[in-house]
Amino acid sequence: MFETLSDRLDKVFSGLRGKGRLTDADIDATAREIRIALLEADVALPVVRAFINAVKERARGAEVSQALNPAQQVIKIVNEELIEILGGETRRLRYAKQSPTVIMLAGLQGSGKTTLAGKLGRWLKAQGHTPLLVAADLQRPNAVNQLSIVAGQAGVDVFAPEPGNGIGDPIRVAADSIDHARRTMHDVVVVDTAGRLGIDAELMAQAAGIRDAVRPDETLFVVDAMIGQDAVTTAEAFRDGVGFTGVVLTKLDGDARGGAALSVRYVTGQPIMFASTGEKLTDFDVFHPERMASRILGMGDVLTLIEQAEQAFDAEQAEKMAGKLVSREGFTLEDFLEQMMAIRKMGPIANLLGMLPGAGQMKEQLKQVDDRDLDRTAAIIRSMTPEERVNSKIINSSRRVRIANGSGVTVTEVNQLLERFAQAQKMMGQMAGSMGLPGMGPMSK
Ligand code: GDP
Repeated sequence: MFETLSDRLDKVFSGLRGKGRLTDADIDATAREIRIALLEADVALPVVRAFINAVKERARGAEVSQALNPAQQVIKIVNEELIEILGGETRRLRYAKQSPTVIMLAGLQGSGKTTLAGKLGRWLKAQGHTPLLVAADLQRPNAVNQLSIVAGQAGVDVFAPEPGNGIGDPIRVAADSIDHARRTMHDVVVVDTAGRLGIDAELMAQAAGIRDAVRPDETLFVVDAMIGQDAVTTAEAFRDGVGFTGVVLTKLDGDARGGAALSVRYVTGQPIMFASTGEKLTDFDVFHPERMASRILGMGDVLTLIEQAEQAFDAEQAEKMAGKLVSREGFTLEDFLEQMMAIRKMGPIANLLGMLPGAGQMKEQLKQVDDRDLDRTAAIIRSMTPEERVNSKIINSSRRVRIANGSGVTVTEVNQLLERFAQAQKMMGQMAGSMGLPGMGPMSK
């Protein structure tokens, strides 16, 4: 995401490197280039204007800093203004004082509402809630079915009209769902509503009817980031027709430009609360303006990476791994496999690497990353006997041939894996050594 803008801004900043002091002409030229970068990213014009004016004003007024050179000063200003445009502080979901909290989803058809209902369900459940997903989209023939499927995947309950009962009245279904949630002790209700292909007065009135029936604590406007600046017009129509308290950006994974993300908050005055980055239920997170700005500027998003790692490696596993480091038995291929599987749970490797600082410079390499490499490596280890996994030294050439045949790879690939593992083992040994940990003999027996 945001590749176009990141690339452009990176060029603007490189042009400033090595300059001793910025003249007014330098600042004007830089502002012009940033303006082009934002326009190319499909950012709405009023937002571009506000952004550029703020950057110019602050760059002119910036006191001469001992600590930062002019390029760094401009980056700092742009970073702060990006955070501001993206919403400043992270906006958390507001729960009702009295259960259930009602969250209504609204947006165009295909924007990703039903998928989002599943993602939210999963996320809420992980936060300790008992959500109920409500199928108030009775327009699309398959919508109820689709919601039941995502609810099943998320492991949460669903409330829908009985199949075969005709089309039904979505406002009635929505209203009934709240009573049902009270009776069944669900503390958060997520109401999925019918989308529309374009702005359609009748469906907008239906959404408003559902809103009045369920009186949501949060109404989330769901918008496909790939439609760029059109998101702004759609958002305005929904703001006027239904009203909303927060925005969810979907399909950020397919959005190279970032126009919707950078415009929608400024234009509607409502914060972006969540972001979806793929079709899987796990491709979803709270939206943090600060982290997003950092990513756009190629400064990485280490905080998100750490959070994902915490979710993937549970405490017990981490402790066991730490224990391995200090034990004589050391780090084995079995541990290597376990780590790989945990990393795999964190999502596509290219996404993970993309969150590291400097990822902007390795875009081409990131495109080459193939998650199947990891699966192949796992398959190789799985073809080893338990003894081989614990003591890799015994894997001689005939064993290598057997392992290659078993996992459907070449012997060269088995050799490469064993080499990589030996290096990882050595690194683990050095790390433990430099931490002054006792008992670090040779890693494998
Ligand atoms: P609805 O009509 O608003 O309920 O939209 P759906 O939830 O049915 O989503 C429409 C399509 O977009 C489906 O094929 C989803 O799998 C896909 N989709 C939803 N969210 C994302 C996302 O964040 N990234 C990608 N790549 N696809 C998504």
